[in-house]
Amino acid sequence: METRMIPIDEHTLQADAIDRVSDILKGGGIVALPTETVYGLAADALNAEAVLKIFAAKGRPADNPLIVHIAELSMLQRLAREIPPQACRLAERFWPGPLTMVLKKQGCIPDATSAGLETVGIRMPSHPVMRAVIRRSGLPLAAPSANRSGSPSTTSAQHCIDDLYGRVDAIVVSGESAVGVESTVLSLAGERPRLLRPGGVTREELEAVIGPIELDEAVLGRADPESRVSAPGMKYRHYAPKARVQLILGPAGRYQEYVNAHAGPDVAALCFRGEEQGLSVAATALGTPENPAQMAQGLFAALRDFDGKGVQTVYAHCPAPEGVGLAVYNRLIRAAAFDLVKL
Ligand code: AMP
Ligand code: MG
Repeated sequence: METRMIPIDEHTLQADAIDRVSDILKGGGIVALPTETVYGLAADALNAEAVLKIFAAKGRPADNPLIVHIAELSMLQRLAREIPPQACRLAERFWPGPLTMVLKKQGCIPDATSAGLETVGIRMPSHPVMRAVIRRSGLPLAAPSANRSGSPSTTSAQHCIDDLYGRVDAIVVSGESAVGVESTVLSLAGERPRLLRPGGVTREELEAVIGPIELDEAVLGRADPESRVSAPGMKYRHYAPKARVQLILGPAGRYQEYVNAHAGPDVAALCFRGEEQGLSVAATALGTPENPAQMAQGLFAALRDFDGKGVQTVYAHCPAPEGVGLAVYNRLIRAAAFDLVKL
């Protein structure tokens, strides 16, 4: 397939380029484009044939539902059958932004989009390019992360080119995603609000608006921070680079000792800023334990970068699973296939 490259500046939003993207989507095509969380691979959410092209391009299992992106609250009523008061309060506080709410779906949402579920995840993104494309096309856009399924998500146009060139109709060339991890997914379709995936909007922030939220067991996965957990196999591996990743929980000094004891030419460290000075292996330093948002922003680029350099083993320093750190922990524990060492 021929893939068109369409540069769009998020400040000037060139109208002719927005028109081209909108026309491709209205014609049932698929386009990789920037959002504030990660790059998304978009199609008309109400066109099953177009949505199936997303699954094919990504190699995504058909039972993994897509999030539908909107630009106006009026679109929400067309897509969701029941909108509880909590959803309105959260939309008011966090939209546009990195929060997806799972609600009972309207009949117009094809099974391909919701993976056969009676619910649909809906988000109003804040990225100016994504918003302009939704407005111009008038379409709700189904858009999972614009990566090959199982690989780290894409946070730059170059990542999309690496994964999807020749497999999609167009790639929008724009800046890096600001949040760096996928949206927070909160289900409001059950009896009690339930956090299905942590992201840029934290559990603590959500609870400040609607009260206690249940944490789905999938968020922390099978990992017990108190014990060493061995890799259960590829089935659970996700967000994963080719390199083996091991997640290390413990204070900076112990982490450095451990990494140095395992040093080698194909070994790299993913650490907090300042820790790299005490390491005898190549290190990528991101954020601090107090500011895991900076680790989130650069996380997927760092994992992709290790593969580009032929790294075989990555020792990643584990953030505390709270605030944005919970989102980083959730992605890293999957990248590590639940291989966690406590020092
Ligand atoms: P991605 O778009 O690649 O970030 O993946 C979307 C994720 O959102 C899915 O893997 C689910 O975890 C979640 N999600 C989307 N829609 C639903 C839904 N209707 N019910 C539960 N989870 C959903
Ligand atoms: Mg994804």
